[in-house]
Amino acid sequence: MTDKKTIQSCKVDRRTFLKATSALGAGATGLNLLPALSKTHATDTEATGKEEVRRSICDMCCLGRCGIEVLVKNGRATRVRPFKDYPNGPLCVKGHSILLQLYHPDRLKYPMKRTNPKGSARATWQRISWDEALDIIADNLTKIKHRYGPEKVLFYAGDPKDPVRPNLQRLALKFGSPNYGTESSTCHRATVLATSLNGGASRGLTPDTRAVIIWARNPAWSMAREMEELISAKERGVKIIDVDPRKAPTTRLADIHLQLRPGTDGALALGMSRVIINERLYDEQFVLNWTQGFEEFSDYVQQFTPERVEQITGVAADKLVAAARLYASNRPTGWITSASPTVHHWNGCQNHRAISAMTALTGAVPVPGLELSMTAPSLRDISEWRTLLPPLQSKRVDLKDFPVWAQFVEEIQVNRLPEYVKEGALRAGLFVGCNYRMWPQDHLYAKAIIDMQFTAGADFWLTPTMELMDVVLPAATSLERLGPIYVAGRTVFLPQPVVSPMGEARGDMEWMWDLAKRLGMGAEFWNGDIMATFDWQLEPMGIKAADLIKQPKGMTIPPAAEGKPARKPGFNTPSGKFELKSSILEKAGFDGLPTYREPPEGPVAAPQMAERFPLILNTGSREPMYTHSRHRNNPRLRELQPHPKVDINPKDAEARGIKQGDDVAVETPAGKITVKANVTNLAQPGVVHIFHGWPQADVNAIMARTLDPISGFPAFKSQLCQVTKA
Ligand code: SF4
Repeated sequence: MTDKKTIQSCKVDRRTFLKATSALGAGATGLNLLPALSKTHATDTEATGKEEVRRSICDMCCLGRCGIEVLVKNGRATRVRPFKDYPNGPLCVKGHSILLQLYHPDRLKYPMKRTNPKGSARATWQRISWDEALDIIADNLTKIKHRYGPEKVLFYAGDPKDPVRPNLQRLALKFGSPNYGTESSTCHRATVLATSLNGGASRGLTPDTRAVIIWARNPAWSMAREMEELISAKERGVKIIDVDPRKAPTTRLADIHLQLRPGTDGALALGMSRVIINERLYDEQFVLNWTQGFEEFSDYVQQFTPERVEQITGVAADKLVAAARLYASNRPTGWITSASPTVHHWNGCQNHRAISAMTALTGAVPVPGLELSMTAPSLRDISEWRTLLPPLQSKRVDLKDFPVWAQFVEEIQVNRLPEYVKEGALRAGLFVGCNYRMWPQDHLYAKAIIDMQFTAGADFWLTPTMELMDVVLPAATSLERLGPIYVAGRTVFLPQPVVSPMGEARGDMEWMWDLAKRLGMGAEFWNGDIMATFDWQLEPMGIKAADLIKQPKGMTIPPAAEGKPARKPGFNTPSGKFELKSSILEKAGFDGLPTYREPPEGPVAAPQMAERFPLILNTGSREPMYTHSRHRNNPRLRELQPHPKVDINPKDAEARGIKQGDDVAVETPAGKITVKANVTNLAQPGVVHIFHGWPQADVNAIMARTLDPISGFPAFKSQLCQVTKA
């Protein structure tokens, strides 16, 4: 039966929500976790004495890029608080803990070269100067380039994202290698790929949204600003449907919660589409004028009856119907999706396309060029990939394995790194902020890095991945470096260092520009002049870097002008329509319709395996105190979550004699790890959740290396496991 009570429960003000989610977050752990919404903090008091307020950007995660005010006394940062007038914010618990990262005694402070062979049980190091380090890197990359070709060098960027990526991509492309990759090979880009194949992404939450579907996203723990917007939306009566295998804190805002089996998102979306089509709740004008393949799509979804979808997903048939009706009959609609949960499955790209198609039926996807658009000057892209990549495209290592990805994404799909190194397609690597534990069966990736002829890396720490390098470089944090330029809303901001760098740490842009000079490419990198680089980026805005840097709160970008569409209306697809049946996928040999397929290691497709491993293992959802593998050495954050844990439903725990805090073994066909049990209703029966990135309980080591054939993304969220008392 439809949960009418849930649908009707709408009085959620901020105070009630905070209280409720705080309790939910605590779960059975006794932790009180709602730091993502913390607007104030013990450090957030008025400045006293001679403290000076300096402004910068928080780099503790890859999402928010929140402005931060740092109180500095005698050259030392003492406290932080939100940057009041900066559009992003408030600070979460990670942002409030940034000084413990800045002044951590284990920071990598000097360049070093290794003194024993790579792969030794323990690396030994010799401190060297920046000049020597950059000379070694330039010599080795030049040798590989001349002997084997520039494309044999991999340029790789992990987290943080924006400050590094466009700079490193420019370095790669100017060097002659299209083989620039990032951790987006396992994060976010597959969702962009899926919506691009259809034609475009749906609107998110806008002021006129009347119904929004949050699909596998928990901003309460990952994006404080967005959570605030959602609470405001709830208060103004926006209908909220939450699709999530977990009862996450954000779920408390939902009118309807669809708690599906992981990996079955496609079936759920197709079932909802069936209701929307059969009850003629769709946007007829949009469908008639702007979709391609509607009839075949309509025929295909007929097999996804509510009853069948209930069997597949575990979501009650009447709840599905109610959700589809609530969503489609409250237009304009919006869709809030997450970077990766829907695409961390073997059929992830098609599943995500199915969700996108469902939202498009309700007219949620704007038609490019149809409406008057706001045109505003924007920052120049420093990577210049649009002009530099095409002549190098044929040398990409991923062309054969992932042709659709290679056609759409300007960076290579890195998930077959072990094979590329083994085949000699990649022989050297420059790694910025990489962690090999982000990949499934990660020992294969560590070996690949060891097997490269030469590797160098930059990081804040001498991490296990940096231990695999020939040369390591100390990276400056956002509080220690100049730039990069940030744009948030209508504000453009150029952060200056708020304190002197620890040791000899340098900003990535600074050392990359120096390296470019040593590689004979100085002229392409403004001869190392960073302010000249910023001037070039800012030129379309008519702003000079020297003026911008004098404005501690940034400058307002010149006003946007409403203008006529610059292009003929239509989607960027071969048909110019929103392709419910993708012509590009069909041409590449895949199904054009967003077909649903069972996870190959799931209980339906692999029942024998499920007898021994009856639980679904879902990894990688965010926790509020950590960013992937980062911050385990931050004492304040570690205190909030000291141990690796598995979230397990009380029913599953009881059936196994497991109690809160017990040591338990989590086993898959690929191996076993030991973690603490967190018995909580956040996990639905039959599904367990583990956060990734713990060195002592590395869940990726026990994940099968099953990759989505379209996107190349690993199936991190729908494999099988067993949990037993250790
Ligand atoms: S969300 Fe938190 S960690 Fe991320 S930038 Fe904002 S304050 Fe920093």
